[in-house]
Amino acid sequence: MITIQEALQIIQQQLPAAQTTRCPIERAPGFVLAQDVDAPEPAPRFTNSAMDGFAVRWEDIQRAGADHPISLKIIGESQAGFPFKGEVHPGTAVRINTGAMLPPGSDTVIPVEEVHQEQAFIEVRTAGSKGQHVRYQGEEFQKGERLLKAGTVLSPRHIALLASLGIDQVSVYRPPAVAVLVTGSELVDFRRQPSPGQIRESNGLMLRTLVTASGGEVVYQTVVPDDLMITRTEIRKAADRADILIFSGGVSVGPHDHVKHAAAAEGFRALFWKVKQKPGKPLFFARQKETLLFGLPGNPVSAFMTYSYYVHPVLQKLRGREFSWSVCQGQLLAAVANPLERTVFLRVEVQKEGDPPGYRVKPLKRQGSHMLTSIARADGFIILEPGRSLGAGERVRVYRFPE
Ligand code: AMP
Ligand code: MG
Repeated sequence: MITIQEALQIIQQQLPAAQTTRCPIERAPGFVLAQDVDAPEPAPRFTNSAMDGFAVRWEDIQRAGADHPISLKIIGESQAGFPFKGEVHPGTAVRINTGAMLPPGSDTVIPVEEVHQEQAFIEVRTAGSKGQHVRYQGEEFQKGERLLKAGTVLSPRHIALLASLGIDQVSVYRPPAVAVLVTGSELVDFRRQPSPGQIRESNGLMLRTLVTASGGEVVYQTVVPDDLMITRTEIRKAADRADILIFSGGVSVGPHDHVKHAAAAEGFRALFWKVKQKPGKPLFFARQKETLLFGLPGNPVSAFMTYSYYVHPVLQKLRGREFSWSVCQGQLLAAVANPLERTVFLRVEVQKEGDPPGYRVKPLKRQGSHMLTSIARADGFIILEPGRSLGAGERVRVYRFPE
């Protein structure tokens, strides 16, 4: 049996490179940008008004005052979307809307509230400052400026920026394609009433939603009876479609556990089987060319924990992020000990409280690996090495479950 550190190291050595693809921006939120995005044009694209008012020449109005009104003739309008076609000559003004192009000749905007209008004329009594209420071409960024860095996880706010620049596609990392294969002849669809001895199948949905939470894409999902030939057929089908095969169950030593043999028969090389850990000891990992196969134990808690620690960071890496978990540090609320010769993944609740605010880490009482409440009530886990004990108040690192 290998340690959890050895297992992680083997997995990291086997990872294929992340793949990139072009993606229309409307489908890009959640994807990781594979290339920097530089501005194809300046912003604003043209010099425009920040206010509704009048575009004027500073020279004309700079001496305006309460007792020295200046009268300008209105010669037209620059509407948003419809620029004024002429030029602002001395003694004239052009009505202008927010966002409308500043007409040639003008350099300053007087807000509509600050002028007195009399038919075709305005009277200016406060000059303000030269260039006021004008947004200059390129004042936000110039053409060629770096706007988004490769590695950015795209979200709606980035999509807006891309759309405003007319960028309709971006290069992103392709989300890893995952097949979820659940084994067990005792399993029935969770919507059906199980007969005595049957078990409701819950790992399929759990793994499917976990994969989605990790940023992967489930491209194939099936329930496989405990049968060697059917397991082999399903491995072939899944490997045709997916980068990663996730099995649940069928990796223990029972006569009905066929995943290891089926994988070997289909050309997968076993890289490890069994890790010194609790839960999740029978974890199996294999590879064939660029396809990875994880054989998670069928026990729902073990499947969840081994997914969280081993599979989740793999999906992160393949979707263009770091091989990592979401972690936080906190203070243990109760002493814990691991008397075993295996590493324990101890489920904990994370509370944010105190002054100054910090994380309090509460070990959960019921840790049975057949008890789904031990993960449903937990926010994550801490790693307790064999023989290790920790006192209340000690700082620990919490691995948060994928959300
Ligand atoms: P296995 O690893 O196949 O020996 O399964 C271990 C335990 O987990 C058995 O009690 C199974 O009935 C249970 N189990 C296996 N697969 C599932 C599943 N998909 N949903 C719920 N329980 C399961
Ligand atoms: Mg089984």
